[in-house]
Amino acid sequence: MEKTTEISQLGEFGLIDRLTRDITFHNKSTVRGVGDDAAVVEYPDTEVVVTTDMLLEGVHFDLTYVPLKHLGYKSAVVNFSDVYAMNALPRQLTVGLGVSSRFTVEHLEALYSGIRLACDIYGVDLVGGDTTASRSGLVLALTCIGDAPKGDIVTRDGAKDTDLICVSGDLGSAYMGLQLLEREKVASAGDPEFIPKFDGKEYLVERQLKPEARRDIIEELHKAGIKPTAMMDISDGLSSELLHICKASHTGCRIYEERIPIDYQTAVMAEELNMNLVTAALNGGEDYELLFTVPLHYHEMMEKMKGVKVIGHITKEDLGCRLVTRDGAEMELRAQGFNHMSSPVAETEEKP
Ligand code: ADP
Ligand code: MG
Repeated sequence: MEKTTEISQLGEFGLIDRLTRDITFHNKSTVRGVGDDAAVVEYPDTEVVVTTDMLLEGVHFDLTYVPLKHLGYKSAVVNFSDVYAMNALPRQLTVGLGVSSRFTVEHLEALYSGIRLACDIYGVDLVGGDTTASRSGLVLALTCIGDAPKGDIVTRDGAKDTDLICVSGDLGSAYMGLQLLEREKVASAGDPEFIPKFDGKEYLVERQLKPEARRDIIEELHKAGIKPTAMMDISDGLSSELLHICKASHTGCRIYEERIPIDYQTAVMAEELNMNLVTAALNGGEDYELLFTVPLHYHEMMEKMKGVKVIGHITKEDLGCRLVTRDGAEMELRAQGFNHMSSPVAETEEKP
């Protein structure tokens, strides 16, 4: 049997020590980490970005099919993804943790092994956090600090008429991974011996459970000397994110259905589920790819850049936001994003 240690055996400080011991730092901006009232960071001449993500059990993740190590890895990576989307580099991470009584020390060690793996891979320092009891399962609130040389930060509001619209990777696969995991959960009917069937769809499961932030694309753009005019990461679906850029930049856009990058396994899964593939690619969440715009004269360079696809261009605001379908018809882009705030889960709690 697996070893289990009740949190009460270690106490809060023993637990924090267990989760954060032997941390080594990657960044010179980290002056002090865990162990004092606050961490200390020092950024003498760069611009600093700060981002927070909050994840609640039953709303954002389901521990029946998400291993704790993967949850830790993913929650850190999605935080880093927000920093890269500002064209900055993630440096420090803090972790707020709400834990209900069913979690043991070993559970939290598994969670932290994922968080710490992500920190090591992306060169981020875990410098602090807070730990408290929760009455509603596991709660995670991660805050990442990053930096970029002055003038390098890219916001959502800089897209200009005729700019090219680019996306990295492929879209819709994480959403299809979630559909697959949900399907197998239903099929298992709670039987712990049940072996889920993922044959030929491993990529979808990986995209859902172990996403990566596109540091490689940020580095590629930097090497090529290209600074996007606007950028964000795609967490709520391409349509929704592109509309954010257009609204903030006071522009319209035109993207082409045939150019939207979709993986083969995503297409197979959509067919099996009888789902519209393009709808899934436009609105499926959690891709964590980058969406960015660059001036038109970079066209040739962008066409050649590995892992990036030009899917359309920015237009004047009064032309609206449009999708050109394969048969040449035009549709208005609409955000049907995968918005957790509107999910029925939020409605089931009693009012205070
Ligand atoms: P305080 O009572 O001053 O808020 P805590 O006892 O909460 O301090 O935390 C002690 C130290 O441990 C602090 O440096 C804090 O950042 C760190 N810490 C607390 N909880 C966590 C956690 N879940 N993960 C990482 N560091 C943590
Ligand atoms: Mg505290």
